[in-house]
Order: sequence, then C-alpha cells, then structure tokens
Amino acid sequence: MANFYEEVKTELKEALKVIDKSQYYDLLTKPKQIITVNFPVKMDDGSTRIFTGYRVLHNSTLGPGKGGIRYHFAVCLEEVEALAALMSLKCALLDLPFGGAKGGVEVNPKELSEKELENLTRAFTRAICNNIGPDTDIPAPDVYTNAQTMSWIVDEYSKIKGKFTPAVVTGKPLDLGGAVGRNESTGLGAVYVMEEIMQIEGINKPTIAIQGLGNVGKHFAKFAAERACRVVAVSDSKGGIYNPKGLDLDEVFRVKEETGSVVNCEVEKITNEELLELEVDFLVPAALEDQITKKNANKIKARIVLEAANGPTTPEGEAILIKKGLRVIPDILVNAGGVTGSYFEWYQNKHNEKWTLEKFNSELEKKMKKAAREVYETRLERKVSCRKAALILSIQRILDKIK
Ligand code: GLU
Repeated sequence: MANFYEEVKTELKEALKVIDKSQYYDLLTKPKQIITVNFPVKMDDGSTRIFTGYRVLHNSTLGPGKGGIRYHFAVCLEEVEALAALMSLKCALLDLPFGGAKGGVEVNPKELSEKELENLTRAFTRAICNNIGPDTDIPAPDVYTNAQTMSWIVDEYSKIKGKFTPAVVTGKPLDLGGAVGRNESTGLGAVYVMEEIMQIEGINKPTIAIQGLGNVGKHFAKFAAERACRVVAVSDSKGGIYNPKGLDLDEVFRVKEETGSVVNCEVEKITNEELLELEVDFLVPAALEDQITKKNANKIKARIVLEAANGPTTPEGEAILIKKGLRVIPDILVNAGGVTGSYFEWYQNKHNEKWTLEKFNSELEKKMKKAAREVYETRLERKVSCRKAALILSIQRILDKIK
C-alpha cells in the first residue's frame, strides 16, 4: 500500500507531539538504510525472470535490525519502510535488544513452484547477503514466507560466508536451530494480550471474528478456542464463514487444508467486508494493512479491535472507531509475540541453550502481558488512545538509549 508509510509517519508525529519531542521526527522516520535489488531467478521453463526486492533497516539504536521478509504481489518500498518502522517500535515496546528492519519481494508466490521459490529465495539472499547477519540485521518469516524459506536463507548465507550461520535468521526449522514455540508465538502472543485485556476490562467468554487464516490467524483461533472463547467467523483471501453459535475449528482447518479455502465449509458464507462488520467482542484483523478505513469504520460494531496484522487500521479509520467508543489495541503490541519468539530463538542460538515449550510459552506470556499492562497504564496516565500510549512507550525507550 503506497500510503502506508505516510500513515505510520502521521501516527509517529502525533505521538511525538504528546511527549513534546517533535525534534526527533526525522530520526524516527528516515530509515537508516534502504536497499533495492533487482535480481535474476531461473524459472522451471528454463527462462530467467528479474524480480525486485527490498530490505530496509529502519533503526538500530537498541540492537541489530530485526524483521521479516514478505513475498506478495503488492510489496513496494513504501510498504517495507512502514513495516520496518513498526518493527523498531514493536521491539522497543517489548523491551527486546533489537532495532527494526523489514524485507519484501514483489512476487505472487502462489504462481511459483517450490523450486522457483527456492531459487528466488537464494537469489534474494545473495543480493542482500552483505546487509544481513546475526549481529547486523536478522530476517524472519512474514506474509507467505515460512521456516522452509528461512532454511534456504541459512543455507545460501552460510555457503557465501563459508561458515554455518543459523543465527542469521529466526523462525527456522527446529533441526536448523529453530525454537519450539516460535511458529505459533505470534498467534499465542496475541491471545495473551487478549487475556490481559479481558481481565482489565472484565470480559468473559468473548465472541471473536478473525480476518485471515495465515500463520497468525490460524494459531490465534486455535489458542483462543482452547480458552473458552467463541470464534464465530473466520476468513481467508477467498471469503469468510459465520456461525453465531461458534465454528467447529477442526472442521474449518480440515476443509481449508484439503480444498484451499474456508469458503468450502458447509456454513453460512460471508464476505471479508461483512466479517469486519460483525457484532463481536473482539474483531481480529490478521491479514494485511489498510482493512479498516474511513470508508467502513462507521460500520464496525465490535467492542475491541485487536490488530494481529501489521497496520490494519488507517489513522482516519481509527479516529472514527474511537469516536464511536471502540477500543483499538495496536499491532505493535498485539502481534509482537512473533518477534518476541524470534528473540527467544536468537538468544538460545547465541547461548547454546534449548528451552522447553513450557519455558518458551511462559516467558512469552510474561512479556506480552507486561507490555499490555504498560500500554493500559500509559493510556490512563496520558489520557490517549492505546496506540498512542504504545508509541509513546516505544519512542521513549529508543530516545533514552540515544541519550
Ligand atoms: N514478521 C513478524 C512481524 O511482523 C516477525 C518478525 C521477526 O520475528 O523478526 O513482527
């Protein structure tokens, strides 16, 4: 989305104003380093195609850059810049020793074979290999990339550097030094945030609608259902399904696995737009940015919007929601379980440790719930929205370190 970075900048500008630190606007909005690469990839039919990719290191005040690599046809530099800035803020909010970075390749991964995706990943790794590294900038999975993608990066990077270097990425397969719990940690982290909010706001057995059933949405749904929450609607890129009594998630996952979409379930169908407008306790956008805008914000009837995706609500959309009395829990808090899990993985790699799933999840729970409480406290103290409170906490941590 071309104006996504403008939206993030607007939010930063407003947060800086609240704490009277507007002089740091440039520092927080001009990325430290931007790389654009055009690189050739061998296709299955013998031809060569040129792809465009980006890696943006937004800020490294708190540590090496950290952030995923996204494969999507709509990837563009502005989007990657926005996502890199959100990573700096997310890492600061969770008190992780990382700066923010992000990468992306303009590609429709659904049109490529497994071999072509491998060739693309290896070629992109070669193109950015001098700009990533375990102590400089550490990629991870994001939209349409996964542990398999990370293993190709480790292999290619290690070959180039002449040394097996698993800590160059996180979100790796377990046998390459990945951490148990990392794959589920974004979804589970968002559930921990939700639990903390339920406690603060006195909500019991909430109803939930989830837009997007990728790695985040799927695990969020599963962990929420295990905790007596009623998931009434889910969707994927082809459309959604709705059952006010609660969906049979095992059946939903089975149908999605076998047919490619939840719309093939024998349940009432709804569109992605209709899902956003359901009357539920928690609306969980878990897909892409710019879903709740000034066009549809007036029709949103959820009590709380829990931003599991990065940037799903535009500033104009959020202003309307807040005016209507809805609460918006921001992305840099809600989906920070991913990068927090990445930190645990990186830490284990560096210290040669192997944590159990229990230890991983209990550390994750502590960090997520603490950050959620801090956001609520700052919101009350400063009389601002949850997003502004989260941004203020993040910005202050970065500025304190600079001092
Ligand atoms: N892609 C995830 C995010 O947007 C995780 C990044 C990471 O683990 O470095 O937060």
